Amino acid sequence: MTLPSAKEVWQAALGELQLQVSRTNYNTWLKDTVGIDFDGRRFVVGVPNAFVADWLETRLKSLIRKTLSSILACSVEVDFRITQTRNGRRGENNLAAHPSQPNGYTVAADRRSSAVADAFSPLPLRLNPRYTFETFVVGRSNRLAHAAALAVAEAPGQFHNPLFIYGGVGLGKTHLLQAIGHRTAGGGCRVLYVSAEQFTNDFVSALRDRRTDEFRARYRSLEVLLIDDIQFIAGKEQTQEEFFHTFNDLYGAGRQVVLSSDRLPSNLHPLEDRLRSRFESGLIVDIQPPEFEERVAILQAKANLHGVEVPVAVLELLAQRFQNNIRELEGSLNRVITYARVNGLPLTLEVAAKALQDVFGNVTPRRMVSPQAVLEAVSRYYQVPISELQGPRRNREVATPRQIAMYLMREETDCSLGQIGQHLGGRDHTTIMHGCEKVSHLIKSNPDLRREVDDIRAVLYGRSTHR
Ligand code: ADP
Ligand code: MG
Repeated sequence: MTLPSAKEVWQAALGELQLQVSRTNYNTWLKDTVGIDFDGRRFVVGVPNAFVADWLETRLKSLIRKTLSSILACSVEVDFRITQTRNGRRGENNLAAHPSQPNGYTVAADRRSSAVADAFSPLPLRLNPRYTFETFVVGRSNRLAHAAALAVAEAPGQFHNPLFIYGGVGLGKTHLLQAIGHRTAGGGCRVLYVSAEQFTNDFVSALRDRRTDEFRARYRSLEVLLIDDIQFIAGKEQTQEEFFHTFNDLYGAGRQVVLSSDRLPSNLHPLEDRLRSRFESGLIVDIQPPEFEERVAILQAKANLHGVEVPVAVLELLAQRFQNNIRELEGSLNRVITYARVNGLPLTLEVAAKALQDVFGNVTPRRMVSPQAVLEAVSRYYQVPISELQGPRRNREVATPRQIAMYLMREETDCSLGQIGQHLGGRDHTTIMHGCEKVSHLIKSNPDLRREVDDIRAVLYGRSTHR
């Protein structure tokens, strides 16, 4: 009696496996495999490429082991080895370049030509048409993030991988991610933009419908994966696990991963350490809240997009009011434009202020600050009389508080540069502009000065200070 060959045993095993896994699963992962060798203990399965080997190793190995053990009536170990398949349709490029490893399979091969992925329709790429590089206004606060995003979009997978963009709410993270999406999709890349929440939902429903194989194949077929608001997966263990594997697969294959978050990887909790260190292994860039000039520039660009001419005074009013969130800034502009249009009014400062009354009242309870209040607060804080702030002396003890007063009036009141000049003893508007710029520049590099300005602001808004 001759023993059945490994090939025949595997054929029998495939027959049984076919009954136990979904058809998609079978066709994708098992159909093109062959039985290669059995030494009485270890059964070697030939697979077309590393992608399949990896997948079978992590997802189907125990089922395969059980099936083979029952056919051979003994306890069997299973190895996967990348090899030429019956019809040689798949994974040719992996064969020559990646001889199989002792453990039976090779990962981190170039999967660019993996036919597995082509079996699935690409996920729909839903991008906001407005979120492009062309409509993104670059300023000091986002220059680095913009440059990194652009580099990634021009040459995915080559420079900053992963690219991790973090920053506060409404500062342009989604905009940048989608701009990368537009640019790379335009270049013919297989790209997906997805929020971490969608990724999670997708994964959970795939689990429920037993379509995880399809889910994985979809994600792992991508050349560029853009995941927004990754902080969402903090604390979600199963999603983290799945994401970790997806990430490794893509990263190992040289595909580009871009992540956004509202905080640094080190501040994502709870997050598996191995995931955190993956996030930290590429380039991390932040987006800061824009400065006044940037806010005006952004508003100007948005007004242009609307095809509406908005007086600079109105833009400046909005830029003063909305400081930390570009979405709100943009919303306020839309509101003002709509208000004027609906009521058939010209877009004046008064009309804008009227349109925003509700907002100030409800959405952004931000008390109006008078220039006099700024003068008083600065005077008290630095122990410099108001008359000195308004006077001609230029010694340091007076000049710095004076410039801080300029800066705070610019940021916290409705005053124009000219008006601020008036409140400070009739100074020229260019002097005021220089003063404001100097302070806004200095507080970036000087934490003490920043704290002083914040303290004065706290006084202005009647908050009990933090010290
Ligand atoms: P985040 O994802 O960081 O919360 P978004 O990308 O959704 O913020 O941006 C909020 C809004 O602000 C969007 O409408 C976006 O187009 C706009 N925006 C943000 N930054 C810029 C920028 N630098 N130039 C133009 N628009 C911007
Ligand atoms: Mg966002």
